Amino acid sequence: MTLLAYRFALDPTPAQERALRSHAGAARVAFNWALAQVKVNLSQREAERTYGLSGDDLTSSISWSLYSLRKAWNEAKDTVAPWWRECSKEAFNTGLDQLARALKNWAGSRRGKRSGTPVGFPRFRSKRKARLSVRFTTGAIRCEPTHAVLPRLGRIRLHERADLGDARILSATVRHERGRWFVAFTVEQDVTRPAPTRPGVAVGVDLGIKTLAVVATSTGETFEVPNPRHLSKVLRTVRRLSRAVSRRQGPDRRTARAPSNRWWRADAARNRAVGKVADQRRDAIHKLTTTLASTYGTVVVEDLHVAGMVRNRRLARHLADAGFGEIRRQLTYKTVWHGGTLIVADRWFASSKTCSECGAVRAKLALSEREWTCTACGAVLDRDVNAAVNLARLAASASDSNGRRADRKTPPAGQVAVKRQPGTATAGQTGSLPPQGESAA
Ligand SMILES: [Zn+2]
Repeated sequence: MTLLAYRFALDPTPAQERALRSHAGAARVAFNWALAQVKVNLSQREAERTYGLSGDDLTSSISWSLYSLRKAWNEAKDTVAPWWRECSKEAFNTGLDQLARALKNWAGSRRGKRSGTPVGFPRFRSKRKARLSVRFTTGAIRCEPTHAVLPRLGRIRLHERADLGDARILSATVRHERGRWFVAFTVEQDVTRPAPTRPGVAVGVDLGIKTLAVVATSTGETFEVPNPRHLSKVLRTVRRLSRAVSRRQGPDRRTARAPSNRWWRADAARNRAVGKVADQRRDAIHKLTTTLASTYGTVVVEDLHVAGMVRNRRLARHLADAGFGEIRRQLTYKTVWHGGTLIVADRWFASSKTCSECGAVRAKLALSEREWTCTACGAVLDRDVNAAVNLARLAASASDSNGRRADRKTPPAGQVAVKRQPGTATAGQTGSLPPQGESAA
């Protein structure tokens, strides 16, 4: 049994749209109310400490568990939100659950029990900026071919037909993104896929900017996987829309200047275009990884950091970097589904700098050098093809120190593999442009 997520765009009626917004708002109200309780409690105890109180003399601290927050909410909801009956209890639970997680992450991060970047203390959610989302875990949740059925909200029309097969639905999350509502069903399903059609063949994958990827097989074939059609056209549109945004009166934190309505409109238009770019690339990446995992017995990719080391503020470059992590993540679970093997080349494996003809290694190779001539054997090498060939060859010597086998066990519990229905618009860039000048490793 594998955990999967199916995601569909929704076409709610105006009344359903209002209900969705109201549910997402309810989640925000519960979140903010509970956060206020926690903050008051913390500052009360802090103040008492300054009077010299300690231990049992202090006001007792309130529990941050979801169970306790929910209990407190249920006692207070008649006064805080007398309208609570209008929304499913799952809506309030969504907000409380998010707060409980946020507090846990903050506490874990502060005590050093949590890896990754430091987590800040949760902040109040603004009505205007907060992401609209509600998660349903109990009650009547179904996915019919044309409708999603959710507690309280009823049957909401799907933008396209759905078929979840024998999947057992665990939860449904409704989200608003870039002017559209989406539902994501987390399901448990038996995933069995046919074995790779060419089990004995290894394939090396080199991700590029100009093309989506260059692929080389251990049998000597090489081919380029082109970027999605119209990508460069949409990228041009993004640049144009970004200029429009910067000409409008945007928000300014220092002077607390509110953005103009024209800025909001331009920003939304830009975000839609960025989202479209992300959607196109995601779709292309899914098709690529599915083809690779279902065709070849062994797939070899570079370590994430090799591609991620390059700092570049261009959107195309950012997408290529982000796509690199995603392609590896997808290959990890898709090769497991098909019974293939994924090999991740060592970070120090010089896939681009090694001559695929004679094995000579260059000391340096600038990113701008798209083609180079080997000084040892005189071969003229295309940078990306050469890298892909070297990666494919690595599969043969996979047992030596240059490569390590990716974990072939099933993904750990809780890891969700996203399965997309063809043509479904999916999530992605939402707020603004990707963080600029940041390595997207
Ligand atoms: Zn050579």
